[in-house]
Amino acid sequence: MPTGISADARNQARSNGARTYQGQACREGHPGMRYTSNGACVICVKERERLAYDKDIAAQRKRDYRARQKATASTVVDLGAELLESL
Ligand SMILES: [Zn+2]
Repeated sequence: MPTGISADARNQARSNGARTYQGQACREGHPGMRYTSNGACVICVKERERLAYDKDIAAQRKRDYRARQKATASTVVDLGAELLESL
């Protein structure tokens, strides 16, 4: 598919106010749904977002795990103190 057609599709989408348009397949082999604003492959952008999200979740889990370990330790101490007070 010549680039001219893809550019036309994008220009047309822009004049229609469409957020996405059917362009050329991207280099990752995705079918070619692209954002009108920057011509970026919709699937590639989504995948990048998901990867960034997964990375964030992994970091968050690690933080949670440490926080939970700390919390568990202090909860045990708190429970012990409560138990002593109730005696
Ligand atoms: Zn892609």
